[in-house]
Amino acid sequence: MATVVMKFGGSSVADVPRLREVARLVVDRRRAGDQVVVVVSAMGKTTDSLIAMAREVAPVPPRRELDMLVTAGERISMALLSMAIHEAGGDAISFTGSQSGIITEDQHQGARILEVRPHRVHEALLTGQVVIVAGFQGVSHKREITTLGRGGSDTTAVALAAALQADSCEIYSDVDGVYTADPNVCPQARLLREISYETMQAMASSGAKVLNAQAVEFARKAGIVIHARKTGDESGRETLVSPTATEPSGVVAVVGASAVSWLRGPAIDLAPLLGRLADVGATVVYSVVSAGVDLLVDRTGVPGRDPAVVAGLAREAGLSADDVGLVSLVGAGTGQAAAVQHRAQAVLAAGGIAARGWFAAHHAVAAVVDRPRCDEAVRMLHLALVG
Ligand code: ASP
Ligand code: MG
Repeated sequence: MATVVMKFGGSSVADVPRLREVARLVVDRRRAGDQVVVVVSAMGKTTDSLIAMAREVAPVPPRRELDMLVTAGERISMALLSMAIHEAGGDAISFTGSQSGIITEDQHQGARILEVRPHRVHEALLTGQVVIVAGFQGVSHKREITTLGRGGSDTTAVALAAALQADSCEIYSDVDGVYTADPNVCPQARLLREISYETMQAMASSGAKVLNAQAVEFARKAGIVIHARKTGDESGRETLVSPTATEPSGVVAVVGASAVSWLRGPAIDLAPLLGRLADVGATVVYSVVSAGVDLLVDRTGVPGRDPAVVAGLAREAGLSADDVGLVSLVGAGTGQAAAVQHRAQAVLAAGGIAARGWFAAHHAVAAVVDRPRCDEAVRMLHLALVG
């Protein structure tokens, strides 16, 4: 009997009809003979609404209480899905992250998983039940409820798959896998049949939302193959994130991020600023500290993606902040950063877009561009550089 972990994202459980569809898929899978663990995200935009509500009450809510609040989102999904499975004739039980034995660091928001002790999950599976686990959350050794960072349900799924030695880890969302660029921005984008952990991790860190960066890192360390699929799509289309993926040698994907602040100024002690940025939901994509400081900060997690919030924190720290776009070229081939940068710069210049700065990381090279031209830059670079 195979053990499978199936994770459903917020859009797949956004309302009752969609929850029913997921329940049907899960019951069919169980009837086919597999042991099934389901990890769920909060319904639709629930997490955003809860955070917005908290910030109405307190501009910077205590981190512990914010975790107590947002973890409720996944509890709603898990309980409703369990009920829907019962209605569909199956047998299921839901567990919080804590009940599932997801042990994390003490930190609130962005806690890393230290270990997984899924005793109750095991027991329930042995009795034939489908187990539904609330994603995105765990419990610290101090017995505080913690969260894993935005999009962290993917990490829950991968960590459970590793701990249960599952045969398959399937991540379902509203897209059928990982594309060479965001298909909403770039109609020429192609579905990647397979992708390496390193490239996938670089895409996620550059701002691609399809899979969570920490989940991919976890999968790489544990050797878990991830199947990224679209909920309800039975065509067999998917992307495999795996250790044996073969990739084209050059640029594999282009990732645009258009809610980015570029913070610059003299060298300072960054620790307090980084803490405050995390408090408002901003994530640092690139940081370069030499004679001065350069930080590229993604505001996707900031309520309203408000540039003023980040600019205010930058000013207090003595840095300037510009609202910009960031276009990252991702793939093992970008290890030759200088050559890739040279070509990309020429492509952008030919299209009348000036690259205002360049940043390099493992498996990625990124250009800072004027925010309104970010999507255009993604299309140009995709056309010219993605083979
Ligand atoms: N609900 C959480 C979020 O929106 C976790 C997740 O979706 O994976 O970030
Ligand atoms: Mg969510």
